Amino acid sequence: MSVATLVRSAQWLLRCLSLLERRCAHCLAPFTPTRDEAFCPRCLPRFAPYKGAACPRCALPLPHADRKDGPSVPCGHCLADPPPWDDIRVYGLYEGVLRDCLLRLKFSGELALAGPLGALLARHLQTFPPETAPPDLVLAVPQHPTHLRERGYNQAHELAVALCRELRLPLRHDLLYRARRVSPQAGLDAAQRSTNVRGSFAVATPDLAGRHCWLLDDVMTTGSTARAASSVLREAGAASVTLLVMARTPLR
Ligand SMILES: [Zn+2]
Ligand SMILES: [Zn+2]
Repeated sequence: MSVATLVRSAQWLLRCLSLLERRCAHCLAPFTPTRDEAFCPRCLPRFAPYKGAACPRCALPLPHADRKDGPSVPCGHCLADPPPWDDIRVYGLYEGVLRDCLLRLKFSGELALAGPLGALLARHLQTFPPETAPPDLVLAVPQHPTHLRERGYNQAHELAVALCRELRLPLRHDLLYRARRVSPQAGLDAAQRSTNVRGSFAVATPDLAGRHCWLLDDVMTTGSTARAASSVLREAGAASVTLLVMARTPLR
């Protein structure tokens, strides 16, 4: 084999390798994926799902959260005022790289992060025992049309699109809507948040009656938004509501 042929073969090989290379969705460093992962080997372990102890009703991490076999007793808030959803699945805590990516998705328009994050959530959901049938439909916590026009997108909807693509589930964006614009929840205490969102959701069609729903939100803090949206779904006749949350704040 001539030297020129060897050089050409080496160049061809390098071109093939560069086609296989990908940039990490978090740190943007180039890496070669072994499967279809979107995060580099340095970042991926930092996106591990939360496995510590948490309230079984609202997923609030409990003080002894380092225990892997967490308690099955609800937190005081859920005992006093049970949430309207039937089940809850939370990916991780709202901290570290997950918080960083969710903030970039929500406030910096980095919509490319929705796919990798939605895929993480989809794979996490597949690790639960399939004690219940797949949902009839998936909904994302909606934004008010004015808010949607200002931001240009709804980050919860973008995550739901990715999740439904991974799990081949029907996403419905026409059933649940914001009937009233609310003030930003940030900076309000739990009681103020609850009052702020009460009555802000409505259901558009009777299609929910008897349906098993998954309701997805990107971040859950006190749970007042998820409670208001879930209540409306149950009042509209939904057979069950499973709340899916990408990240849970560690403290209420
Ligand atoms: Zn990375
Ligand atoms: Zn709870």
